[in-house]
Amino acid sequence: MATDIFETRESQVRSYCMNWPATFERASGAYQWSEDGTKYLDFFSGAGALNYGHNHPELRDLVVEYVANDGVTHSMDMKTPAKRRFLETFERIILEPRNLDYKVMFPGPTGTNTVEAALKLARKVTGRQHILSFTNAFHGMTLGSLSVTGNSMKRKGAGIPLTNSSKIPYDDYFDGDIPDFLWLERVLEDSGSGVDKPAAVIVETVQGEGGLNAARMEWLKALHDLLKRHKILLIVDDVQAGCGRTGKFFSFEDAGIVPDIVCVSKSISGYGLAMALTLFKPELDVWEGGEHNGTFRGNNLAFVTGARALELFWSDDSFQKELAGRIDELKQGLEKIAEHVKGAYVKGRGFLTGLHFPNPDTAGKVAAEAYKRNMLMETSGPEDEVVKLMPPLTIDSEDLQKGLKILEEAVLAATG
Ligand code: PMP
Repeated sequence: MATDIFETRESQVRSYCMNWPATFERASGAYQWSEDGTKYLDFFSGAGALNYGHNHPELRDLVVEYVANDGVTHSMDMKTPAKRRFLETFERIILEPRNLDYKVMFPGPTGTNTVEAALKLARKVTGRQHILSFTNAFHGMTLGSLSVTGNSMKRKGAGIPLTNSSKIPYDDYFDGDIPDFLWLERVLEDSGSGVDKPAAVIVETVQGEGGLNAARMEWLKALHDLLKRHKILLIVDDVQAGCGRTGKFFSFEDAGIVPDIVCVSKSISGYGLAMALTLFKPELDVWEGGEHNGTFRGNNLAFVTGARALELFWSDDSFQKELAGRIDELKQGLEKIAEHVKGAYVKGRGFLTGLHFPNPDTAGKVAAEAYKRNMLMETSGPEDEVVKLMPPLTIDSEDLQKGLKILEEAVLAATG
């Protein structure tokens, strides 16, 4: 047999290809095709980087046109028309209608870059070092983001102690037995508590990697208000839950809060291209030129597709309304499937949702059975005990129902 270069040359740190050994060659909408022509239904969406599906035709045409016209692709943080258009569109379609006044920074290509920037900025602004994050949080794999990540298996990859962060209980950690944040307020007010006042608290409104725990809006509001009283910055990591995943553009829109810093990435390019934004209140714009630099801070192709994606999907509320219907449809389908397994239940919010199984081995088996039936879905949670469904937001009802049917078969096969 011919040797497989992926086996012989690529590092063993590989992860997704272990569960999905196909070699993927082509993709369109909610489907991917492997080299041998097999068609896979994609309920993974590039871990949330493909909210509008693969190769949206209009965005693809824009990429082709931009390249065919020798458009500048790399520009560091220099000015380009593509960047101007992205900023103007983001201001007009996203910020102004939501009454949000944020400075926009391009911190580097990925989610972990925007989290690093947020943590660093919070420390610089407040002059304090300590950052609080939550049990089961996931914020990225570089050292700062990893330090605020809850999963100790992931943190072990650092090989060194990660400091300056403590984990505090996420919403519903105590099953409602202990009032929200009373304990935090007490230790912050008590000079003898020994708890250093943090620079910031970083939170996901839905813990995408940590088991699809979804915070209640009133819990987020209580957190926001407490931090405001104590002059501690609130960072919302909307890398996974943002760009429409939960049904609104930002996942915190229904909580009535205005975070001090917001981390955005994954689907902001609209086309699966590397791009990230760090949004912060204007008064936090304290870095001097060059104090937070980097080579890949201006992906012009991503600006081109990102601006158009905002126009296509967010200029009015028609897409959002259609998405709300699809979200209900997915939820109802999942609730029916959960009835097949005692103790299984639906978790998450919007199109960042899934099924929790009481036996932690079940979710992996379900995802494997789905793969056998040519469908991609991943697992989530500290023990990978949750099957995670992230269809493209643009999926039609027919494909959604197809996915639910395969999932049902996979659940029955894995548990039967
Ligand atoms: N924050 C959250 C909430 C995420 O889900 C992720 C990625 N799954 C990251 C940060 C890191 O993003 P990236 O993998 O692009 O560095």
